[in-house]
Amino acid sequence: MKAEIISVGTELILGSTLNTNTHYITQKLTEIGIDVLFHTSVVDDKKLLKDVINTSLNRVDLIIFTGGLGPTNDDITKEVVSDTLGLKLILDKSLEKEIKEYFLKTNRIMPSNNVKQAYIPEGSQFLNNEVGTAPGIYMNWQGKIIILLPGPPKEMKIMLNKYAIPLIKQDSIIKLKTINTIGIGESQLEMILKDIIEKQENPAITTFAKEGRVDIKLVAKGNCEKKLDEDLNKILWKIEKRIPEYIYAYDNTPIEKVVYQKLKENNMKIAFCESCTGGLITSKFTQIPGVSEVLDRGIITYSNNSKVEELGVDKSLINSYGAVSKEVALAMAEGLLNKTNVDIALSTTGIAGPTGGTKDKPIGLVFIGIALKDHSFAIKCLFNGDRITIQNRATLKAFDELRKILK
Ligand code: AMP
Ligand code: MG
Repeated sequence: MKAEIISVGTELILGSTLNTNTHYITQKLTEIGIDVLFHTSVVDDKKLLKDVINTSLNRVDLIIFTGGLGPTNDDITKEVVSDTLGLKLILDKSLEKEIKEYFLKTNRIMPSNNVKQAYIPEGSQFLNNEVGTAPGIYMNWQGKIIILLPGPPKEMKIMLNKYAIPLIKQDSIIKLKTINTIGIGESQLEMILKDIIEKQENPAITTFAKEGRVDIKLVAKGNCEKKLDEDLNKILWKIEKRIPEYIYAYDNTPIEKVVYQKLKENNMKIAFCESCTGGLITSKFTQIPGVSEVLDRGIITYSNNSKVEELGVDKSLINSYGAVSKEVALAMAEGLLNKTNVDIALSTTGIAGPTGGTKDKPIGLVFIGIALKDHSFAIKCLFNGDRITIQNRATLKAFDELRKILK
């Protein structure tokens, strides 16, 4: 579905008010899979607004207006839209009552020009304004969806999210599915899925690179819900078959939550000992409610000494291989497993920078150790980026490794 946002208000054109509404509405429409193709701003002028509406009707299926719904003379949107579409404005008694009640509730007497706000174009429905008097308008006119929202951002946002978006979704049936992947770059992913993506129109497939992972978004549009579900599932199945090892979740479940759910299902406990991630893994993990069921402890063993004292890592191992090494990562995880009564222990040790890198051990080198009751291993990773990015990537990688083990 193609959309245009029309902001009405001289103050927007003159630069005295920043047009934040257009930005906000576009984000919300994009989220539900609508293609916003045009942003138009126009001064409070009947003739110019009419031209803008006629142009818009010729190029999109959904038009959202903001501004110009107030009770004063320069608020012309509703009148000009009705006039352009050839619709009469009729008094909506229930709306009139609501507006009167709003004034009563806020201890004011309704000025007579506010009655104007109780008129709506024939065939339309009004959208409640919970924080102001100017109601919005929603109509399905000759196959096009036309929506009028008030200018004040606070009023516009509530009305858009609570009333307009659900109606748009109902009238245009959009089904979304996000496949969350990790461990594969966007271009490689696109190569593997190239033929599926290119052949595919509905549902449309788009990939979005995120920090350390890639989302695949499927958007199906139509008017038969059952058919959309079937089409979505068909594509989903095809993609799953191609890249099963990279998919960690659907619809944006965080990876740490996936790990938590798997641990819980398997009745397993985990502990972390973190060096270069400085507690980030434990911190991320403890953001999930209920995590105490599976988390035993997270300790930050930053110094060499702490690795020896807290985890029983052999001092000579650190001397021979260095604290940032596969051997030490492994010894850390195994030491923690021995010390605790958990089923999995995970360690990190690495060089987050910006100093401390050498030719053999560059900045971004991170080892992740994982010890289970019957086997243990450590993996070597090399991350790009600044200190925080390296810590974040190591954290993500740690959860990815756990997810793979628990699958
Ligand atoms: P109106 O509904 O045209 O009377 O607008 C009321 C107030 O809402 C204006 O004075 C602006 O402060 C604000 N406003 C209107 N349109 C926008 C917009 N597109 N973005 C941000 N604020 C707006
Ligand atoms: Mg205005």
